[in-house]
Amino acid sequence: MPASNQSFFENVLRYFDHAAALTGLPKGLLDQIKYCNSIYHFKFPLRNPDGSVEVISAWRVEHSHHKLPVKGGIRFSPDANEDEVMALAALMTYKCAIVDVPFGGAKGAVQIDAGKYTAEQMERVTRRYTHELVKKNCIGPGIDVPAPDYGTGEREMAWIADTYMAINTGHLDALACVTGKPVTQGGIRGRREATGRGVFYALREACAQKDDMKALGLTSGLEGKRVAIQGLGNVGYHAAKFCREGGATVVAIAEREGAILNTRGLNEDQVLQHKKETGSILNSPGATNLPGSNDVLESECDVLIPAALENQITAENAPRIKAKIVLEAANGPTTPEGEAILQEKGVFVIPDIYANAGGVTVSYFEWLKNLSHVRFGRMGKRYQETMENRMLRAIEIATGKQFSESDRSAIVRGADELDLVNSGLEETMAVAYHEMRDTQLRNPKIKDLRTSAFLNAIEKIARAYMELGIFP
Ligand code: NAD
Repeated sequence: MPASNQSFFENVLRYFDHAAALTGLPKGLLDQIKYCNSIYHFKFPLRNPDGSVEVISAWRVEHSHHKLPVKGGIRFSPDANEDEVMALAALMTYKCAIVDVPFGGAKGAVQIDAGKYTAEQMERVTRRYTHELVKKNCIGPGIDVPAPDYGTGEREMAWIADTYMAINTGHLDALACVTGKPVTQGGIRGRREATGRGVFYALREACAQKDDMKALGLTSGLEGKRVAIQGLGNVGYHAAKFCREGGATVVAIAEREGAILNTRGLNEDQVLQHKKETGSILNSPGATNLPGSNDVLESECDVLIPAALENQITAENAPRIKAKIVLEAANGPTTPEGEAILQEKGVFVIPDIYANAGGVTVSYFEWLKNLSHVRFGRMGKRYQETMENRMLRAIEIATGKQFSESDRSAIVRGADELDLVNSGLEETMAVAYHEMRDTQLRNPKIKDLRTSAFLNAIEKIARAYMELGIFP
């Protein structure tokens, strides 16, 4: 069983301290970076259809104000608690630094099992939550910008934006108060799948390093890699999709109700369709059932992608993990004790603060779009196509040869919003991967990518504080 009662924030502090010890930075500065700047815990009433009233607990934690706005998702979960929100807010700070997104870290949560309430009740909860944030100045395009997380999605982000705009009538930039909105409500194409796509880019980059793959006894490239995924929500579904389309074989998938296996490969759309029809992924056509959802963690695979919740890989189950690569799509899926065992076994861990940074990267693009009030690609797409057509024409005149229609349409294509978002995401994930890897290669004391990711983040944040003149 996962050690779900383990302090998630303590785990983050341990990872931080391990990397901080390599920096030589003064203790005061490290303390300023590591602790949460503000923690807001509030409660509000919710009326049930039978007239009874219950009191709902909620949080917004702003971990680091070294850059503004702060940014981080909102989680709806019956298990949400302050420790978890603090940990997730801290991870956001380091994540933004790793992918050079100019935000501080934050996170929010509502302690609620959304599945037990009607859509109208969830709308009231979301709007009330937003009101409470407004009252305390904890939301705004230049202050604190929430996004989706576990249990929330585009619908909730649209309610948040609508509530904020109703209170701040006429504010030109009000839509930038939240990201992950539907495209029709100021969202950006590619945000829905961004975290899973980023997870795929992370894996592709890792698998492209021949020496690293050889050390693991694996061939380079994604082709044929056996992937197991825990959690078929937003992140897990899209990670499965892009990995499969990229040449990997998804051999195992777990949801809350259990896990399924198929060594010849599962298709995430078919599994999801089966879940829609039957309420469960179990008994999906062609697949074998596993008794427990956590059995997926120990399944035969090359790459294990935990994409559900924290504290899943622990000292208890790490010895039985067979994957050569653990790709942390969820936040905090591995405890420090679990990680130590994985390291001893030679398992290569691609850490959460890098692996799932695709979501905040594209959220940053959405925020930029909202502030600039123009869709990416709108100004340049047609111009680019015109210039490419002229270039082809000039080549045709010079060579006396004609391009075929299919060659022409493959070459002449102005970038639209989705092209630019995906290209920006791919570049971000590739650059950050090599920054982490280079730090590790330069420093023989660093044995894992998580330490180099934390080290890079701490140094970038420390530089921001030092440039402010606050610390010597
Ligand atoms: P989600 O609510 O869309 O999906 C989570 C899925 O996990 C659900 O389908 C749920 O049923 C399943 N699940 C829960 N417990 C499970 C268990 N024990 N075994 C198997 N499946 C289980 O949430 P999400 O947005 O996909 O987030 C998943 C993780 O990714 C979280 O840790 C979140 O913090 C992290 N994350 C999300 C984003 C984002 O953009 N949504 C960005 C970065 C990180």
